[in-house]
Amino acid sequence: MCYAIPGKVEKIEDGTVVVDYFGEKRKAHNELAEISVGDYIYAQGGLVVNKISSAEAQSILAVWKETFFQLQEVDLKLSRLNLGNQDADQKLLEVLDKASQSQKLSTEELLYLLDLKDKKKVELLFKTANFLRQKYFKNSCCVHGIIEISNYCRRSCQYCGIASYNQELKRYRMTKDEILQAAKEAIQIHGFKSLVLQSGEDCGYSIDELADIIKQIKEKTPALILISFGEIGIEGLEKLYQAGARGLLLRFESSNPVLYKKIHPGMDLTSRLDHLRKAYEMGYLILTGGLVGLPGQSKEDILNDIFLSKEQHAQMFSFGPFIPHPHTPLAKEDPVAAQEIIKVLAVARIIDNTHAKILVTTALETLNQEALRGGLLAGANSLMLNVTPLDYRMLYSIYPDRAHQSEGSIEQIESTVALLRSLGRAPTDLEAF
Ligand code: SAH
Repeated sequence: MCYAIPGKVEKIEDGTVVVDYFGEKRKAHNELAEISVGDYIYAQGGLVVNKISSAEAQSILAVWKETFFQLQEVDLKLSRLNLGNQDADQKLLEVLDKASQSQKLSTEELLYLLDLKDKKKVELLFKTANFLRQKYFKNSCCVHGIIEISNYCRRSCQYCGIASYNQELKRYRMTKDEILQAAKEAIQIHGFKSLVLQSGEDCGYSIDELADIIKQIKEKTPALILISFGEIGIEGLEKLYQAGARGLLLRFESSNPVLYKKIHPGMDLTSRLDHLRKAYEMGYLILTGGLVGLPGQSKEDILNDIFLSKEQHAQMFSFGPFIPHPHTPLAKEDPVAAQEIIKVLAVARIIDNTHAKILVTTALETLNQEALRGGLLAGANSLMLNVTPLDYRMLYSIYPDRAHQSEGSIEQIESTVALLRSLGRAPTDLEAF
């Protein structure tokens, strides 16, 4: 199973390589010394991950050759947009027409889109976002694996099922060998080229231990490693970057400082943003976003969340629903509908046409099984598959009944690949040149 396709290096200029994928040129940043023109490489998130032999690359590419163009055709068909022929209301058509031409929408227009209720109107919004996704990102979809290495957490976030106050949860912390084994399976057996390591804010691992784990994964099984351990401090970020981590998944959760403080006792939004800013300066790819549907959150707050993600140079937006967990103070709050989240993804795509990938989160899939497909057809082009060992996966219960919580990796991969194929999406992950 393969989540990226190999490309051939055509040109090397300083730290950048130009890679050819069946005639399409893409750019990637390269940190590996041994790359030469003519080599075949895998890249993820705009970074070269590893080199593979020409024989291996050619046998993979032979399988992909026809499919590559067939998928593009399917995608193109599914993302056609014809606003001219619609009998929808004039204001909607005007706003979407502007959006489809990549003109900047006003705050009022964006809020109007977020507020749409009528099913037909919402469909047209989704189609416009899908059109923009196809126009700027083509049919590439990045698929990351995620390993949840520990559910210990020192924080008391009011929405989160693994918060320290939840005494009913059995805690686990994977050992170094278990993490290395899970990473090896994900990368070597399942073919992931990009792996997120996530945990609660767990003081049970030292930064040096985490650095050692990352180093060993990179040495044994090269991949793009993204970290999601919460606020580990600026020095921690630096050490893990030196160890080989290249992406930081850290949601700021809410851009509204008052709401942020309310749901994160003892924490401050500025500290979170400081981590994101410093990580960006260090060279990390930034994956960030927020929770949608929090009690007291307004549509303006959600719009500001999208703007803030963009301001943080997010390479990937991660917006998902808040799902009430029974063992948290927010247990009795109302859950949000899947369509509301997909609207956020679509508006995010309209705000950021060209830069950020947009993730469909597992939380969204948990709300509605069809939502993965729905999100991918509304501007999103990224997903994460959970490859945490099954015994532990159930215990990482940030919210209840998570989608895929008892599904083996192979089943998840097969159904994802089938879905991506039906939508004409290819698991490549580089921006068009
Ligand atoms: N310690 C890491 C990882 C936290 S868990 C960090 O602080 O970044 C990963 C994400 O789960 C959080 O960013 C949060 O947005 C999400 N999450 C937690 N509780 C949730 C809930 N009840 N519903 C939906 N998402 C939730």
